[in-house]
Amino acid sequence: MKVRVIGNGNITSNNFNASFLINDKILVDAPPGMLKELKKLNKNLDEIKVIVITHLHGDHYFDLPFIILNEYARGRKEKLIIVGPKELKKKLDILTKLAFNNRLNKYIANLNIFFLDANTVQNNQVDNDFYLSSIKLVHGEVKSNYGYIFKQGEKALGITGDTEMCPGLTYMLKKVDLILIDVNDKKGKHLDLNNFKDLVKTYQTNYIPVHFPDEIEEELLKLKNVKIIYPGEEFYI
Ligand SMILES: [Zn+2]
Ligand SMILES: [Zn+2]
Repeated sequence: MKVRVIGNGNITSNNFNASFLINDKILVDAPPGMLKELKKLNKNLDEIKVIVITHLHGDHYFDLPFIILNEYARGRKEKLIIVGPKELKKKLDILTKLAFNNRLNKYIANLNIFFLDANTVQNNQVDNDFYLSSIKLVHGEVKSNYGYIFKQGEKALGITGDTEMCPGLTYMLKKVDLILIDVNDKKGKHLDLNNFKDLVKTYQTNYIPVHFPDEIEEELLKLKNVKIIYPGEEFYI
């Protein structure tokens, strides 16, 4: 499985916000500016088959209206599946109205887009031997908040989105070979550095912290089984 880190930052960090491209086909989260990041990669956007959204905080999905507009403008024919919280379509409609005084439905009606409630996604086949599952994670008061497990052959990749310590997270850590994990270092709504250190000691897997503030980068680099992958880098698991 090929993973490209488009961003690994949080709102305050210098790096682009946490977002990833799996096997060139599945985009995970769409922070503000994502469309331009994809254009910088010189990507044929028809290759992107699925967009997966972790939760409805602006730093994770506010570029979706622009991606949809772009696809409408260039006359996309390929099917596009958008997986996310069930409130996503309604929120997008509001966002698009705010941005352009126009209705999203006009664009969607002309595109082959399907919205899929993340809650229903369990071992859904995305590609030949590629499967997607959602895991409910806790993130402050956010009602619909999901991490995802991507499976291909024997390998499993976890992406948490934003999370605090919760049973869904420990479930993920036991299942995956590698995890891209939120270490925003804010008490309560995210993992802080101490939470993260405890997890690294307790659960044996490979950790790539993301969504972290620049100030804790040095501390993160000292930990065993922890690697930082920077925006623009790719790796395989
Ligand atoms: Zn969040
Ligand atoms: Zn966030």
